[in-house]
Amino acid sequence: MTSEMHNPQSADSLRKAIFDYASQRFDYNPPPLDGPLSPAELKAKVGQTITEDGLGGEKALNIFAEQLAPATISTDHPGFLSFIPAAPTEAASLFDLVVSASSVYGGSWLEGAGAVYAENQVLSFLAGEYGLPETSGGVFVQGGTLGNLSALAVAREEAAKKLGKKNWTIICSEEAHSSIQAVAMVLGIETTKAASGDSGSIGYDSAKAAALEATSAGLTPMAIVGTAGTTNFGIIDDLAGLAKLAKELGIWYHVDGAYGLAGALIPELRAKFNGIEQADSFIVDPHKWLFAPFDACALVYRNPQLARKTFSQHGEYLEPINKSTEWNPSDYAFNLSRRARGLPLWFSLATYGAAKYRSALKQNVDLAFQIAAEIEKRPSLRLVRQPQLSVVVFERIGWEMSDYEKWSEKLLADQIAFVLPSSLRGKPHTRFAIVNPQTSFELLVEILDSMEK
Ligand SMILES: *Cc1c(COP(=O)(O)O)cnc(C)c1O
Repeated sequence: MTSEMHNPQSADSLRKAIFDYASQRFDYNPPPLDGPLSPAELKAKVGQTITEDGLGGEKALNIFAEQLAPATISTDHPGFLSFIPAAPTEAASLFDLVVSASSVYGGSWLEGAGAVYAENQVLSFLAGEYGLPETSGGVFVQGGTLGNLSALAVAREEAAKKLGKKNWTIICSEEAHSSIQAVAMVLGIETTKAASGDSGSIGYDSAKAAALEATSAGLTPMAIVGTAGTTNFGIIDDLAGLAKLAKELGIWYHVDGAYGLAGALIPELRAKFNGIEQADSFIVDPHKWLFAPFDACALVYRNPQLARKTFSQHGEYLEPINKSTEWNPSDYAFNLSRRARGLPLWFSLATYGAAKYRSALKQNVDLAFQIAAEIEKRPSLRLVRQPQLSVVVFERIGWEMSDYEKWSEKLLADQIAFVLPSSLRGKPHTRFAIVNPQTSFELLVEILDSMEK
């Protein structure tokens, strides 16, 4: 007897309803922006959904479509310009459905060979673009935070092999992503922040000053983290200068390119990332600027064997896998069971080819520069820094944080855009993070106009 829940026939009408819903979601152009409700509002509208007898799929789907989905913001709306949005290609999102339907275990070659082969082609493609050797490799993890954690855990193992136990610290920019701080907390080590100055980028000199400061405070630097596109500004550190310092100090060099390293696929911008080829490890998030759905971070090591030594888990039931010499993705990060989450990007890259990616990325950068020029023309606005990639940061002269907040709330309430305030060294500003090829110059101008009122 099969259970009703697992009997394909009984799911026929539900399957149709789900595919119809997904199909309709794909048809939206643009999708509704929508917005959050409070827990009390959701409780009043939705109430309790988990019952002993079940609601039935139709009713549950209806609750999602009518109540829950509208209480989420569509990150692929062209007016979603906060944080770093996600604008998956149609092929990538469609293939996410296939991954869901396929029940592939992506942790080992034994179970997931075909999927792992395809994921590894994407990792090799990226490593090749950035100039790492063919022997490099890694794994798709859930996000940049976990990617940074895994890379820096390997770095710490390597440092400890050489020097034993020390009071370790990670050298990074004061504008590095907050996850570096979080990683240090989890690893029980420190961070030492290099000054980024007016430019927003660190290089050999500022990182060296930070390393000296760390040493005189009794800390031992164990890794340098370069940021290839800061989250707030899209500014790229001097990756070659940082590589040189890491070599001098004999320590690990990790490049956090969660958002910006995608930009190195643009031929005209490639030189700005020089030095990436010397990284011991890097990350780039397909869910940020490689047009893939949540959630995926490509994590690559120059010498993946070091990661394997750090992360292989040894339980009796895992020994058949550990005996093999094949590529087991679980060995290359702090994870075991895993979704083959690199497949949506693989399918999309295989479908469209790399050239279309390069031009879609370039289009985002061109739009960023175009709107930056428009901002510079307007006396009431001030560009905080010249953009390098696809993030544009600017101030409305005379506005306090509360003015930005009121304006931002109204933009969302009017369903025009989702643009949040941010700040630099305590001074408020706002920013456009442009990763969606559907975002238009006209929409951005409409948003600027709304600040002049
Ligand atoms: C977003 C971001 C991260 C964190 O990535 P998640 O996928 O959100 O965990 C790390 N570093 C940089 C530079 C980022 O922009």
